[in-house]
Amino acid sequence: MDKNQNPSIGCVVTECKYHAQNADYCTLDKIMVGKNESFSSKSEDTDCESFIVRDSYK
Ligand code: SF4
Repeated sequence: MDKNQNPSIGCVVTECKYHAQNADYCTLDKIMVGKNESFSSKSEDTDCESFIVRDSYK
């Protein structure tokens, strides 16, 4: 596996500057996952807080 892909963090958010682009992985060593509701009861209630939009999409 490409050393620029973290096999422990799968991700399909290609709009993110940290996405590997050539495969569905994050390139960061660590991410922070937060919640967007006071009580998370489903996956939609969680967010990747390490997301930053790619420069080309700004
Ligand atoms: S920082 Fe979050 S959204 Fe961005 S590629 Fe990594 S896991 Fe995906």
